[in-house]
Amino acid sequence: MAVDYHLEGQVAVVTGSTSGIGHAMAAALAGQGVSVVLNGFGEAAKIEADRAAMQAAAAANARVLYHGADMTKPAEIADLVAFAHKELGRLDILVNNAGVQHVAPVDEFPEARWDAIIGINLSSVFHATKHALPLMKAGGRGRIVNIASAHGLVASPFKSAYVAAKHGVVGFTKSCALEVARSGITVNAICPGYVKTPLVEMQIADQAKARGIPMDRVVDEVILAAQPNRSFVGYEQLAGLLLYLVSDAGGSVTGAALSIDGGWTAA
Ligand code: NAD
Repeated sequence: MAVDYHLEGQVAVVTGSTSGIGHAMAAALAGQGVSVVLNGFGEAAKIEADRAAMQAAAAANARVLYHGADMTKPAEIADLVAFAHKELGRLDILVNNAGVQHVAPVDEFPEARWDAIIGINLSSVFHATKHALPLMKAGGRGRIVNIASAHGLVASPFKSAYVAAKHGVVGFTKSCALEVARSGITVNAICPGYVKTPLVEMQIADQAKARGIPMDRVVDEVILAAQPNRSFVGYEQLAGLLLYLVSDAGGSVTGAALSIDGGWTAA
C-alpha cells in the first residue's frame, strides 16, 4: 500500500517538470493529492498529453496545471509563482528543479553556456524562492526543496559552470533556511548522484567527445564509476525523499544538503 504523507489539498510549483526528475517529483506530489503547477520546455502537444495523464492519475481533488515560464527570465518566474497562487489559492511547496548542463574544459567553455547554466541552475532558485516566501509566510508553513546535485558537494572536471551553480544552490539553501527557520518554512537541497534522465543521456555523449572515448566506456568508467553502488538513482527513490521532506515528518530537517548518490560523496 502506498504511504500517505498527508499532503492532500496542498499546492506545489515544480520547475523544469516536463522531463526527468521534475516530472517524477510532480507526479509523486499529484499522487498524494497535491495540486501541481508544471513548468518546462518541450513540444506543446506532448506537454499537454503529459499534463492530462498526470491529472488523470492525481489523487483526491488535486489539479495539474502548466505554466511555460523561462527560468532565465525573472519576470516570467514571478508570473509562474503568481499563477499558482491565483489559480490554486495558496502555495505550500516549491521544488526548484530546472537545470541544464554543458561539458567542456574551462578554457573552451562558451560564455553563453556559462551564463545560461548560472541563470537556470542557480539564479532561478533565488527568483522563485523570493516570490514564494511571502505566500508561505502568510500561510505559516512552507517547504522549499532545491534539486542540487552531488556536484553541489564535490567536483568533476569539465563541468565548471554546473559545479559552481550547484555549490551555489547548496549555499543559498543554507542561508535561506536560517532566515526562515522560525516561520514554519524549511529549505533543503537534495543532492542526487546520476539519474538516467535525458540530461544524463546528453552528458554521456558530451563526455565521450570531451574525453575521446566511446559512450559505453563513459557509462562504465566515468558515470557509474563515481557511484560506489554502481547503480543509477531511481525516480521513486528521489520521490520518497521529496515526500518525506515536504511532509510533517520532515519538519525539523532544514538547511540540509541531503545526498542520495549510492555513496559517491562518502568517498
Ligand atoms: P532533464 O533535462 O530531464 O529535465 C530538465 C527540465 O528543466 C526540463 O523540464 C526542461 O524543459 C527544464 N528546463 C531547462 N531549461 C529551462 C528553462 N530555461 N526554463 C524552464 N525550464 C527549463 O534533466 P534532469 O536530469 O531531470 O534534471 C533535473 C534537475 O536535477 C536539474 O537541476 C539537474 O541539475 C538535477 N540533477 C540531475 C541529475 C541526473 O543525474 N539526471 C543528478 C543530479 C542533479
